[in-house]
Amino acid sequence: MSVLDRELQGVLTAFREARPNDDSSLIEKAYHYAAKFHAGQLRASGEPYLSHPLAVARILADMRMDVVSVTTGILHDVVEDTVVTSADVQKVFGDEIARCVDGVTKLSKIDFFSAEDRQAESYRKMLLAMVNDIRVIMVKLADRLHNMRTLGALSPERRERIAKETLEIYAPISHRLGMGKVRGELEDLAFRHLDPEAFQEISTAIESQRAANEDYLVRMRQTVVDELKKEGIPARVEGRVKRAFSVYQKLKRQKISLDQVYDLLAMRIITDSVKNCYGALGIIHNEWRPVPGRIKDFIAIPRPNLYQSLHTSVVGIDGKHCEIQIRTEEMHRIAEEGIAAHWKYKEGKRGVQDDQRIAWLRQLVEWQQDMRDPSEFSSTLKLDLYPEEVYCFTPKGRVIVLPAGSSPIDFAYAVHSEVGNTCVGAKVNSRIVPLRYAIRNGEIVDILTQPGHVPSKDWLSIAKTSRARNKIKHFINASERERAIEIGQKFLEKEARRLGVSLSRIAKADLERVAAEYGAAKMEDLYAALGYGKFSARQVLQKAAPDQVVEAPPPPVPPPAPTTAGPRSGREADDAIIRVRGVEDIMVYRAKCCNPIKGDPIVGYVTRGKGIAVHSKSCTNVTNLMYDSERRIDVEWERNVGDSFPVKIIVQTDDRPGLLHQLTTILAAENANVRSLEAKTNFEDRGEGATIEMTVDVRDRKQLDKLCSAMRRISGVRDVERPHHT
Ligand code: MN
Repeated sequence: MSVLDRELQGVLTAFREARPNDDSSLIEKAYHYAAKFHAGQLRASGEPYLSHPLAVARILADMRMDVVSVTTGILHDVVEDTVVTSADVQKVFGDEIARCVDGVTKLSKIDFFSAEDRQAESYRKMLLAMVNDIRVIMVKLADRLHNMRTLGALSPERRERIAKETLEIYAPISHRLGMGKVRGELEDLAFRHLDPEAFQEISTAIESQRAANEDYLVRMRQTVVDELKKEGIPARVEGRVKRAFSVYQKLKRQKISLDQVYDLLAMRIITDSVKNCYGALGIIHNEWRPVPGRIKDFIAIPRPNLYQSLHTSVVGIDGKHCEIQIRTEEMHRIAEEGIAAHWKYKEGKRGVQDDQRIAWLRQLVEWQQDMRDPSEFSSTLKLDLYPEEVYCFTPKGRVIVLPAGSSPIDFAYAVHSEVGNTCVGAKVNSRIVPLRYAIRNGEIVDILTQPGHVPSKDWLSIAKTSRARNKIKHFINASERERAIEIGQKFLEKEARRLGVSLSRIAKADLERVAAEYGAAKMEDLYAALGYGKFSARQVLQKAAPDQVVEAPPPPVPPPAPTTAGPRSGREADDAIIRVRGVEDIMVYRAKCCNPIKGDPIVGYVTRGKGIAVHSKSCTNVTNLMYDSERRIDVEWERNVGDSFPVKIIVQTDDRPGLLHQLTTILAAENANVRSLEAKTNFEDRGEGATIEMTVDVRDRKQLDKLCSAMRRISGVRDVERPHHT
C-alpha cells in the first residue's frame, strides 16, 4: 500500500467513525479522480501533491464533517491546479460538490495581501459574502490549516504573506465560527512565522513556568478532584497550557512584560450539567479566594460565537494565581469545534437548544447585511437563520431580549406598557440617546418617563417589536376614536345649522335608526364614522329627518377643463378625477406627500373629518398609515381626464456644462410644462455633482416614466427620483 493509499484509509476510517451511517463511496471516487489529475505534481516539500488534499480531507473528517465537505476537501485544488473544469466536476460529482469546489477555488483567487487592519474586516466580510455554502468556509479553513502546518517549505516572503493573511483573515473567521481549536492552532502557527523570537520567548516561558509549577498544579488538581468528589460532582480536571499567541496578545493589550503575567497556570473542569458548573465554582471559591473582577459567567450570557463557560481566577496554594474554566462536555465541544459541532446536529433531528446553538450565526448574518447582495448567502445556512437578537439590561440588571435593531421604545414596552406609553427619552450606558437608537448587546438602557405623556404615531416607524407596535396602535386608535366622535358630533351640529335644521327636534329614536342603518350599534359609533369621514352629515340628517332636509341638488356640471394647466384648487378637481369605489358624495384629495398622478397605483385613507386622502401605493407614508386596515379604502382614477398634474422630480447629476440644457430639451420635446427648476451644486462621496429639483406638469404616470427614463439616458445623470416614492 502506498503512502497516499494509507492516507486515504485514514480519511475513510475517521469519516466512518464519525458518521457510521453515511455512504463514503464518493470520497474514494474523489480520491481516484484527484490522483489522476494531480499525478506528477509535487508540493514545495517534494511530496506528491495529492498528500495535501488528502490531509485537508482528513482534517474535515476529524471535524466530523459530512461527505460533501470531505469530498470537496479532496477535490478542492483540481480546478485551480489541473486541467479539470468546474463543469467536469459537476458531471462526475453532481451540483452540490461542484458548487463547493467552485466556492473554494473562488476564495483562493482573492489577494488579501497587505490588507491594513481597517480593511481586514471588509475582507473577512467579503470572503463570507462570496460563499454560498458554509461548508466552503470549512474546507477553506482546513486547507489553510494544513498549509500553515507545512509552511516551512516555502520562501520567507511567501511564508510571511500566508501567515499574515491567516492571522488577519482566517483565524478571526474561525473565531467567529466558534472553532476554538482551529483558531488556536492557526494563530500559534502564524505567530511562530511572523515573530519567531517573541514566539520562542513566550513558549519557553510558558513551558518553564509549567515545569516549575508541575508540583503546584498536581496539588491544585488533586484538591479540586477531592473536593468535587466529596460533593458528588462528577468531573474531568485537566491542567491547561495557555497558547503562546493569546499570552502575547495579553502582554500587548495590558502593556505588561512576561514576568507580570500571573496566570500562565490554568485548569479546566469539565462536568455534566450547568447546575454542577455553578456547584463546582462554589466549591472552588470556598477553597481559595477568587481574584475580584475575574469571575465571568459566559453560561448565563454566552459570547456571540456561543462560547459558554464559567471563568474565575483564584489565589491558590502558596498564594499563586490560577485561572480556572468550568464547563459541561457539551460546552466544551462547542468551544473547541464551534460550527463543526453544530454541523453534526444539523444532520439529525433538531433539538430545542438548536435555537441557542446557532446564535453565533447571527454574527454572520450581521456581516451579511452589510453586503451588496445578501441573497448570495448560504442556501444551506439560510434555513437555519433566526432573527438576530440583542441582549440588554434594565438599570436593575434584568435581561431584556429584543430583535436586533430594536429601539428604546421597544425596550420600554418590553419592560411595561405604562413605561412605553409615558416614555420621553432614554439613556444607554448613562448617555442620552435618540429614540431611534439601535440598542446593542450588553447595553444598559434606562427609560425616561413623564406622567401624562402619550405615544406618538411616529413611533410606529421606530418600533420593531410587535408588542410595542400593537400597544402604540391600540393607544392611537383609542385616542383617535375619541377625537373622531367629538369631530363627528360637531360635523352634525354644524351641518344642521347650515341646513336650518334643529337637531333637538329630531327624535333620538330617528337618529338611532339611522345609526343602525349605517351598521353602527351606538350613537357614538355613528359620530365616529362621521368624524372619520365615512359618510356625510347631510346624508345622516336627510335620513333622520327627511321632512326637514330637502334632497341634495344634483351635482353641478363640471366646468370645462381649463385650457392652461395652471394650479388648481385641489378639492373639486380631485373629486372629479378620483373615484371611491362604491361610494359617492365623499371628499377626496390627493395627499401632498406623494402627490399621486394619474396612472399611479393609489390607495385611499379615511382621515379624521377631512375626507379621503389618496396616496400613491409606493408612498413612504402608506405603510405606517395603513396599519389600521379599516380606514383603508379602494379608490380609482376616473377614465377620461385630460388634465395635467404637477410632479416634483429630483435629478442627481455630474456637474457638467450643457447638462441642464439637455434636460430641458427632453421636457420640451415631451411638451411638459416646467413650473419651477432649481439646480444646486453639491459635494459628496461620488465627487462633485449637482442636484436639480424641478416641478413639471405631466398628463399621467406613463408620460412621467417616459420623461424619467429619457433623462436617465443622458450621460452624466446619476439618478432621477420622485420624492416620497420608494
Ligand atoms: Mn489547497
